[in-house]
Amino acid sequence: MIQKPRGTMDILPDEVGIWQHVEKTAREVAELFGFREIRTPAFEATELFQRGVGDTTDVVQKEMYTFADKEGRSYTLRPEGTASVVRALIENGKCSNLMPQKLYYLINCFRYEKPQAGRSREFFQFGTEMFGAADASADADIIALANTLLMRLGVSDIHLHINSIGCPECRPNHRQALKDYFASYKDDLCETCRERLDKNPMRILDCKSPVCSEIAKGAPKTLDYLCPECTSHFDKLKATLDAMGIEYTIDANIVRGLDYYTRTVFEFIAPVIGAQSTVCGGGRYDGLMKELGGPQLPGIGFAMGLTRVILAMKSSKVALPQAPSPRLYIASMGDKAQKKAAEIVSRLRTDGIFAEYDLVGRSLKAQMKYADRQNARFTLIIGDCEIESGRAVIKDMQNSEQSEIALNDTAAIAKAVL
Ligand code: ATP
Ligand code: MG
Repeated sequence: MIQKPRGTMDILPDEVGIWQHVEKTAREVAELFGFREIRTPAFEATELFQRGVGDTTDVVQKEMYTFADKEGRSYTLRPEGTASVVRALIENGKCSNLMPQKLYYLINCFRYEKPQAGRSREFFQFGTEMFGAADASADADIIALANTLLMRLGVSDIHLHINSIGCPECRPNHRQALKDYFASYKDDLCETCRERLDKNPMRILDCKSPVCSEIAKGAPKTLDYLCPECTSHFDKLKATLDAMGIEYTIDANIVRGLDYYTRTVFEFIAPVIGAQSTVCGGGRYDGLMKELGGPQLPGIGFAMGLTRVILAMKSSKVALPQAPSPRLYIASMGDKAQKKAAEIVSRLRTDGIFAEYDLVGRSLKAQMKYADRQNARFTLIIGDCEIESGRAVIKDMQNSEQSEIALNDTAAIAKAVL
């Protein structure tokens, strides 16, 4: 027996309804905010992620699915979406379009991680990116989009945490303070963090190891080191969220320790879903476009993990959409009747009506049982008599009401089952 790769999942028909509902709602909300979909390749040159995600991150250091193709080029299955979107804008000459440019995507991502609840090796993200808007109102708009979607999906008990990590002007002071702080704990830090101490001490704040995260609790906070411009950006973000009625907590532990991530960072956290409780993470990355060879163009976005959204919906006891059921099931006896059933069903489907008939040669009784199991709203039985008279009875399975129709009058059949 061949099994699926570890950390991947099969989404079976009984489970797919909630996924389709989440994806559909995500598209609707994105479009409500003026975002348009972008699709990029599932794999990219490895260097794109090394530069775009950052080679001091866990994602790049430990989690990428990197392979050489037959000609020896190094490619990586996308671990996230932002770098690809930025590359696509640069490569397709879209950096001077009307601003802001607002884009969204629904993608699968791949990370070599230890599978557990809310963490898999192939997972699904809904992501948004906005380019060309440096003002804090754009940060609030992006946060409002994520918030609206989570509300529409019925996720209760979810909390927005925000922070500001400053800009290239003010970050060096904070970085130095972090270095000084962590240096005194050097021997206790995990091996990866010891390496990060020089290169990128802010990443230590992100480390999942219990020892490092305990030490990180006492570390200097970015908010204490912001320059006046970053302070007023953060103030405006808070004021705009207040005006929109979106509640938040200021959380100094949220960071994105990369040079081109700037100012706003945020997460939506649903504690009820367990240890992997960050449903959505995002922030501003005013330096990323330039880092990847494009013009200086501010950007902000988020990525929402759909597995975790669904876990949160389930724990909020959200009523899930029902699988659609046929409007009409035609039971038939004999070849002539089956052919007539095929003809009627085919016409109804052309009109967009969900209709079915017997394809496996069941007895009449078994066909009726099948119709019941499929939850068909109406049934129509065709046998020799009905073929001869050209008339048959449509039965409403909800109230047992019956009406007679002519088998050749598809319009009347369509009307009867709508
Ligand atoms: P985490 O702290 O959980 O590792 P992260 O910082 O690596 O998250 P991001 O790169 O910000 O995550 O990705 C955005 C979102 O994608 C996360 O908030 C989460 O909902 C989801 N996500 C990330 N990695 C996984 C995974 N391996 N399996 C399922 N969902 C994931
Ligand atoms: Mg991670």
